[in-house]
Amino acid sequence: YWSTVHTLRAALRTSTCAPGRTYAAAASGAKAVLEKELDTIRAAGTWKGERIITSKQGPQIRVDGSRGRILNFCANNYLGLSSHPEVVQAGIDALRTHGAGLSSVRFICGTQDIHKHLEQKLAEFHEREDCILYASCFDANAGLFEVLLGPDDAVLSDELNHASIIDGIRLCRAQRLRYKHLDLSDLENKLKEAQSSRMRLIVTDGVFSMDGDVAPLPGICDLAEQYGAMVFIDECHATGFLGPRGRGTDELLGVMDRVHIINSTLGKALGGAAGGYTVGPKPLIELLRQRSRPYLFSNSLPPPVVGCATRAVELLLDSNEIAQSMAAKTTSFRDQMTQAGFTIAGSAHPICPVMLGDARLASVMADDMLKLGIYVIGFSYPVVPKGKARIRVQISAAHTDEDIDRCVDAFIQTGRKHGVVS
Ligand code: PLP
Repeated sequence: YWSTVHTLRAALRTSTCAPGRTYAAAASGAKAVLEKELDTIRAAGTWKGERIITSKQGPQIRVDGSRGRILNFCANNYLGLSSHPEVVQAGIDALRTHGAGLSSVRFICGTQDIHKHLEQKLAEFHEREDCILYASCFDANAGLFEVLLGPDDAVLSDELNHASIIDGIRLCRAQRLRYKHLDLSDLENKLKEAQSSRMRLIVTDGVFSMDGDVAPLPGICDLAEQYGAMVFIDECHATGFLGPRGRGTDELLGVMDRVHIINSTLGKALGGAAGGYTVGPKPLIELLRQRSRPYLFSNSLPPPVVGCATRAVELLLDSNEIAQSMAAKTTSFRDQMTQAGFTIAGSAHPICPVMLGDARLASVMADDMLKLGIYVIGFSYPVVPKGKARIRVQISAAHTDEDIDRCVDAFIQTGRKHGVVS
């Protein structure tokens, strides 16, 4: 991407500066550069098309160009709350009582009672001191590290952390040390390297969204305590459904009191609208309100979004039933697919990556699945490493057992057609 931007800038510079050249010549030069880059993506088989959904989000959706209802296995709608009647109603109610939006950032005139209430509920849900809302978790990740860490500090980051974490870390001036994916001994080496720093922060996804694998948090916390580091986790693919009460990876692995800072999203299991947040120690949250740039310089979360998320969190605080209903469905899908001969990455997480290797195969198989009424998406480079293309299946609590069986049957049919299974 950046090489395209640089080439493009260079093309524009030479075109506009050369005497006698017109703006039209500059524009056509730039267009040619862009078209060439787009052709490269198409030729590599890594083009990401967007299918148009004409219904609301749910286990069954309507997709433009396909007939009837399609079974959806690629949303992060882990608990099926995106279209839950109480969640939708809460959004409508908030729209009526608090309007469409704030036309303001939080610190000018953009903080409503419902924002404070949601922050308090999220802090309670995660059992942390305080919470700050952002327009997205991407923003929460972009805003945290620069505020927390200075040039005298060190950040130790899993090499497969989410893009928004990587970007957020790039914005801070701390020493950056990248450790091998889930590798505790490499993390320990990096912690030794960082011993002269003022503060050390270990940064990891709780669950890695491409492979569905879970960070070894007890080992990470042991090392953090041994080498005097704080622990940060991104819980976008865990909040609401991992652990006995759905509190996340830290609850699942019994380290809720040993993880210091959590960023997560309202755009997946918690109603699926949009928004992100940080929970952690009170002074950190207060400092973020003073200094975090995506918070200070971006509009407040719209009231309907706040309403939907608040109801979703309240439902989960009231009962862990929805969160629990998902585990059996995940196991059923993983077991049936493995028996059929597919390789499924990760373990026991509703993200079930069906590993295929080849980018084009992943894309063609996903198209064939849609013809059989199953909506899944092929993932390829640069979203996943080259040669590790896959179809990522995501199980939702809203899927029925029949939905799971139909998805497995369709995989077997398309897998046989393309020689993936016999
Ligand atoms: N972190 C992880 C691990 C994610 O998977 C995502 C979304 O894809 C984000 C952060 C960004 O979340 P949001 O959609 O709220 O910006």
